[in-house]
Amino acid sequence: MERVASKAEARRAAADARTEGKTVALVPTMGALHEGHLSLVRAACNRADYVAVSVFVNPTQFGPGEDYDSYPRDLEADLRLLAAEGVDLVFAPSAGVMYEPGASVTVDPGALAECWEGEIRPGHFAGVTTVVTKLLSIVRPDLAYFGEKDYQQLQVVRRLVRDLDLGATVVACPIVRDRDGLALSSRNVRLTADERASALAIPAALEAAAVALASREREARALERAMFERLAGEEHLSLDYAVVVDPDTLEPLDTVDGPARALVAARVGDIHLIDNCALVPHPGHSDRRSTNE
Ligand code: AMP
Repeated sequence: MERVASKAEARRAAADARTEGKTVALVPTMGALHEGHLSLVRAACNRADYVAVSVFVNPTQFGPGEDYDSYPRDLEADLRLLAAEGVDLVFAPSAGVMYEPGASVTVDPGALAECWEGEIRPGHFAGVTTVVTKLLSIVRPDLAYFGEKDYQQLQVVRRLVRDLDLGATVVACPIVRDRDGLALSSRNVRLTADERASALAIPAALEAAAVALASREREARALERAMFERLAGEEHLSLDYAVVVDPDTLEPLDTVDGPARALVAARVGDIHLIDNCALVPHPGHSDRRSTNE
């Protein structure tokens, strides 16, 4: 496994792999790796001949007062995990290397970035689209892996790659959860035991929406109410949003007639957590309703 810190070295290593006719995959991460990240890495290793992983806590996607300074970092542990997975290249630049002094051009993340996380974290998605564009320009992968855990980010990146013809195929990977249901996140290590217990209301709320849908509730507001009820009064937890949206446009739905996504964001202690799940109405949903009622 090659470890590089400069853009030139990363560009050269990936270009060499392409010259050898290899399929190149990129897995962008902010490090403090867990099984969620490793699931992306494994998917990439299964499909591509050459796998590059970037480890970079991107300052431009953190707002003032957010947790850039306290974000967990452990590059040596990350390198051990990535070597064990058979990764070919780790690109771990410093912020000063990634952003030249005086860098001022950014990538506008477009309309999908205006709602939900974009509203709570102004500038966040511009930081994401800028760094993802830079990483894709440096590595020029055939495949770029992203987790459904950050569902809005995934959709913003899909649009970015499509609208700017960045040339990579975006591959989405399912959310990996802890045994208790909490979606794995690098930030989870900062939760106290009590906060973690409260955070479990988030996956429980998503489950409540899925259960309500399975029992034929198709009104989005009622599904959202099922989530609010599960989250309300939870100690340490302050809800940002719990919504049922179109999985592509992220616009709120009235009725779940086809694929939908439930999105939840909350602050637990001072830690921002997000989670989501697919809401898929049963195929015979409306037929059964009309036959049985
Ligand atoms: P991050 O290091 O948080 O920027 O995440 C890097 C990539 O890993 C992103 O594409 C995330 O969506 C993905 N990821 C993070 N946590 C999970 C998880 N629990 N399950 C699946 N993918 C994840």
